[in-house]
Amino acid sequence: MNSMSLEDKLALNKYDIDEELHISVNEDICRTCRNRVCLHICPAECFKLLGEKITYSYEGCLECGSCRLACSKGAINWTYPRGGFGIAYQYG
Ligand code: SF4
Ligand code: SF4
Repeated sequence: MNSMSLEDKLALNKYDIDEELHISVNEDICRTCRNRVCLHICPAECFKLLGEKITYSYEGCLECGSCRLACSKGAINWTYPRGGFGIAYQYG
């Protein structure tokens, strides 16, 4: 298990993906950002740099909330997906 890549581990997760986005990002604010901490903080790598533009996806979100806390400019609007949607964690 430890020799698995991050991508392989993330592929084991199960999601019921909502068609309604639960993440949005203010691109105007991102254009003024230099540290771009979102690119490094997200364990699911939901944020990517496309040229000079920050892009993001919500489908693989692990619902940790780290991006919202880490973005000091408050550019990320993040909530949990609607009830029943999102990642399914299994306990026990
Ligand atoms: S850290 Fe925040 S402001 Fe900076 S690029 Fe990421 S989302 Fe945008
Ligand atoms: S809540 Fe966590 S997993 Fe989801 S986009 Fe933000 S940092 Fe990534």
